[in-house]
Amino acid sequence: MDFKDFELIYKENRSEIKNKSNVKLKLIDIIGEQNVSTEDVDILAYTKDTSMIAYNWTLQGIIAGLPDFITWPENVTHISEILKLANLEKIPVIPFAEGSGVVGGAIPIYGGIILDMKKFNKIVDINEKNLTVTAQAGINGMNLERFLEAKGYTTGHIPQSLYTSSLGGWIAHRAAGQFSTKYGKIDDIVLGMELVLPQGELIKFKTMAGASTGPRLDKLFIGGEGTLGIVTQATLKIWPIPEKRALISYTFASIEASFKAVREILRENIYPAVIRIYDQSETNRHFGEVENAKDKVMVIFVCEGNQKLVDLEEIITREKCEKNFGVDCGEAPVEHWFETRFKVTETSSMPAYKLVFDTIEVASLWENAAKLYHSVLEATGKVRGNLLITAHVSHFYPNGIGIYFTFGGVPPKGTSDLEFYQNCWNSTIKAVLDSGGSIGHHHGIGITRSHWMAEEWGESMKTMKEIKKLLDPNNILNPGKIYIDTWKGGEK
Ligand SMILES: Cc1cc2nc3c(=O)[nH]c(=O)nc-3n(C[C@H](O)[C@H](O)[C@H](O)COP(=O)(O)OP(=O)(O)OC[C@H]3O[C@@H](n4cnc5c(N)ncnc54)[C@H](O)[C@@H]3O)c2cc1C
Repeated sequence: MDFKDFELIYKENRSEIKNKSNVKLKLIDIIGEQNVSTEDVDILAYTKDTSMIAYNWTLQGIIAGLPDFITWPENVTHISEILKLANLEKIPVIPFAEGSGVVGGAIPIYGGIILDMKKFNKIVDINEKNLTVTAQAGINGMNLERFLEAKGYTTGHIPQSLYTSSLGGWIAHRAAGQFSTKYGKIDDIVLGMELVLPQGELIKFKTMAGASTGPRLDKLFIGGEGTLGIVTQATLKIWPIPEKRALISYTFASIEASFKAVREILRENIYPAVIRIYDQSETNRHFGEVENAKDKVMVIFVCEGNQKLVDLEEIITREKCEKNFGVDCGEAPVEHWFETRFKVTETSSMPAYKLVFDTIEVASLWENAAKLYHSVLEATGKVRGNLLITAHVSHFYPNGIGIYFTFGGVPPKGTSDLEFYQNCWNSTIKAVLDSGGSIGHHHGIGITRSHWMAEEWGESMKTMKEIKKLLDPNNILNPGKIYIDTWKGGEK
């Protein structure tokens, strides 16, 4: 296949690698012939991640980024040696796990070597006394959960992409699972970690239950998105499978009333594992069958753990909902959520209908939450061509929320898919920043959000760039992400 025939979005970043066949031979030397490919079929497979706009590009025959080599390292020495070679030859290296990222984080926009982590798939250890599991970073999420479940445990980290994402990808993007309100984000779940730095050096952070030994350097690498190091192994907290689950649902007249009820529950130091608030549009979409739910705000709760505690949590959760005029809708809405929680066919079918669609998750403190919600709906609802802007809230803290907006529409005449897509993102993120929110909650920055990072981080961006330079002086590790505005969606 001649890739020159394809439109390549990020072509100007790419420089042809001199001595390509020589580099290939060196890679083969390091990891063996079976672990290196330059076959078209492999090259094509690693040109995109699961960003919604990349779906549209794929349907239009457009390629996002074009890698030069695909590699499957099997051990830490392989990774270390590949990085040393890449530094010598000044070739980008892009860690790639399962490609379920939705912000372009794994797209090789400068070309280079894809470092596919799938052979790092082993469980190293489970320690039932310490309540920890140690696994290699490329392990598939569902495989890890199946292993734990058979032994009576769970990490409590169950993202919707559980079947199609990896431990390393979660750490890279600071992921959040559906049960995060009780078990925390991956940031809270990781207890220890090993990673290879950009110049090939392996560093290990001790697994500890709490220590006061200088700054938390390990935290720097959680959310690094493959730009500061390659995570090879991590130790996570685990929990016994809950003894009891209580399924509770209530509808409320307004988003404000639902926020107040949930805030009051969390203030009592009660953490239902799952809380999900669906605004009126999403309630109509997902719970149309539920009696009296039409045009209301549906809230579902799953309390889980020790039976006596769950019983108490249920009593208090119900008290707070009823105090805020919530109407009990029984277990059925929660059962419906359990049945459909991994189903994404609705979203992946949109591009084929020429609908441009995406989701944007952001964070807010409680004091700004309602304002942020209404501002986004108003701003993005006004974008020309927009047909849909809705929200649900799925991650809760005593101090704030992670809220998830969904937009969709048909670009008006004279506006490309990409321009329309960018207009919806721009209006949403502007409203979020104006309302005091954060531009992302758990999908990461990648390419899509990189051009708002200076605004998000302010002065600390300069320090972050200096750290990157110090660790990766040749800028070989996943260049063009997080700190650099490389997004091709047009002006802000
Ligand atoms: C249908 C769907 C549902 C989703 N649901 C959720 C959800 O509930 N919660 C959530 O948080 N996210 C969700 N996501 C987003 C996505 O699954 C996450 O961002 C996930 O963490 C990415 O993991 P991955 O293994 O697929 O990584 P990839 O997409 O392969 O890579 C993501 C980033 O991580 C880097 N990377 C990968 N492995 C390593 C490593 N070992 N060391 C260093 N860097 C590495 C890559 O370079 C890239 O920058 C969803 C996505 C889809 C498509």
